[in-house]
Amino acid sequence: MRFFGIAGQDRIKNILLRTVSAQRIPHAFLFAGPEGVGKRTTALAFFSFLVCEDPTENDSCGLCRACNMVDAGTFPDLAILQPEKGVIKIDAIRQATPRLQFEPLIGPWKGLIIDNADLMTLEAANAALKTLEEPPSKTLFILISSNPDVLPRTVISRCISLNFNRLSTEDVAAIVAEERGLSPAEIVDAAALSMGSPGRAIRLLDSPLMGERRAFIQTFLELGTKGLDQLLAFSKDVASSKGDEADVLLLLESLLQDIVHAASGSPDSDFCNYDMVEEIRGFANKIGIDKALAAVNAWTDWDYKRRYHPDLRAALDKVFLALGGDF
Ligand SMILES: [Zn+2]
Repeated sequence: MRFFGIAGQDRIKNILLRTVSAQRIPHAFLFAGPEGVGKRTTALAFFSFLVCEDPTENDSCGLCRACNMVDAGTFPDLAILQPEKGVIKIDAIRQATPRLQFEPLIGPWKGLIIDNADLMTLEAANAALKTLEEPPSKTLFILISSNPDVLPRTVISRCISLNFNRLSTEDVAAIVAEERGLSPAEIVDAAALSMGSPGRAIRLLDSPLMGERRAFIQTFLELGTKGLDQLLAFSKDVASSKGDEADVLLLLESLLQDIVHAASGSPDSDFCNYDMVEEIRGFANKIGIDKALAAVNAWTDWDYKRRYHPDLRAALDKVFLALGGDF
């Protein structure tokens, strides 16, 4: 994995490269930011750069034995932890950390990347903290999280935090077009709805929900002014029958964001659902900014706690309750 080809995160790349040129590479980073904007790819590119046998000034070669092993997931001194069934348990940390005490087999660096680090149990986080507090030499930790506020303060304070930005819609379109071999025109809807995340855009591109998007939003907007009973019925319908829950989440999130944009008078160019601006503005005018914000707050509150309360129906009910009432 190389830095070359990672779009829209130049600021982060430059900081990472700077730590190397200044010979001040921290023991631990926290890569924070929205899902699908390149955090994991950047983590792998940075580790490749550190272990590459023939690096340029700014990037790994992508060809040497070390680069190939990192790409293939077989580099012996790099462990990548990911949640299993939505959680990273202490056993996973205990298995990965002892190895870090030894000299690197290939060298010069060893690495531990914890993806979705916020899904560590408290015991797992404490075990990780132990190693973070007394880091073995030449070892790089990278914690990756789209929900870093959930991590214990003690863990965060041991890491240098780098915040990854959302990408521009144009960057998303360019990345996804290249990856899929499509023309930018073919992916313009998915890019606009992706909220700056190529990962999300790719997900949306493959989702059957994209074909139903306009109808879905139309129904939402019509029901939003009809009364609570119908809203809650729609909520039940959405939560139970619209296929993949993650796709529904993406669509709703983009719509709620648009409603707030509309209620606060943002220009058309700020809208995710750029082809339904008029309808969304009409809806926002009826409900007003207070209710729009209340709905978004209900949503983000649930999103933040969804690890503990993953029930989509309950979340939708809360959003609709915030929207509903006598408007
Ligand atoms: Zn290389």
